[in-house]
Parts: sequence; structure tokens; C-alpha cells
Amino acid sequence: RVKLKDEIIHIQQMVEAAEMDLNIEGDPELTNTPLLVENVLSMCLKEAVTNVVKHSQATSCNVLIKQSPHEVLLSVQDNGIGISDKVSTLSGHGLQGMRERLEFVNGSLEINSSNGTTLTTRVPNL
Ligand code: ATP
Ligand code: MG
Repeated sequence: RVKLKDEIIHIQQMVEAAEMDLNIEGDPELTNTPLLVENVLSMCLKEAVTNVVKHSQATSCNVLIKQSPHEVLLSVQDNGIGISDKVSTLSGHGLQGMRERLEFVNGSLEINSSNGTTLTTRVPNL
């Protein structure tokens, strides 16, 4: 069972090894979130940042965690080459797996590509 805080340590190492800047905004200590949902978010964070390191050619990566009583929003943004609409729905297992796991906890995934890539996931707390 992976907590978001532990995954953050892991992504810090990954991004540092890639010589990219990492900014983290928000509190990774989730208060109202079931462990299963936190596990899904941790997996999304890992996959999203792995993709930034592998594919984006970015120089920086921003992670935002926003908690409200009803939901958690996690977004991962990079300033790289961007992702095409086709690619984001068709190829690879990472994004597909993210979508499937998010669906399982009634969450959502949004991919935005303008000035790099922004991946936004939202999950309800219950
Ligand atoms: P896998 O995750 O199964 O190891 P993958 O990373 O290629 O393989 P996905 O994670 O589903 O697969 O990503 C699909 C494709 O989207 C990638 O191959 C890459 O072309 C593109 N992509 C994903 N994230 C980014 C990003 N941050 N910047 C640019 N391109 C991206
Ligand atoms: Mg991937």
C-alpha cells in the first residue's frame, strides 16, 4: 500500500536523476481519502511523472495536490513537447491503466496539451 507521501520521495529521485526541476504544491498528507483511493492516486502520480521523464523533454515538472472535503485533485504538468490527442487515447499501457484504475474509484483523467502537457486526475473521497 503506497501512500502519496512515499511516492513523492520516489518521484523526487526520478526527476532529479533526469536533471529536471520539480515543484510540489499542496499537502500530500491526505486526510479524508480512503486508502484504496490514495493507492490509485499514488499510481497515477508515478506513471504521470515517469511519462514526463521518459517522453516530454521538459525542463521542469509541477505537481499540484488540492484537497477539498469531497475530492482530491492531483495534477502533473510539464513544459515539454506536449502530447497529441491521438496518442493520449490510443497507445501505451500507462495512460490506459491510469484511466481504468481511476474509473474503478469513480475518478477522472483529463489530458491537456498546450505549452507542454498537463494531466489532471480527480477522485471523490468516497
Ligand atoms: P508505458 O507507460 O506502457 O510504459 P508509454 O509511456 O509509452 O508506455 P503511456 O504512458 O500510455 O505509454 O503514454 C502514451 C504515449 O503518450 C507515450 O508513448 C508518449 O508518446 C506520450 N506521452 C505521455 N506522456 C507524455 C508527456 N508528458 N509528454 C509528451 N508525451 C507524452
Ligand atoms: Mg507511460
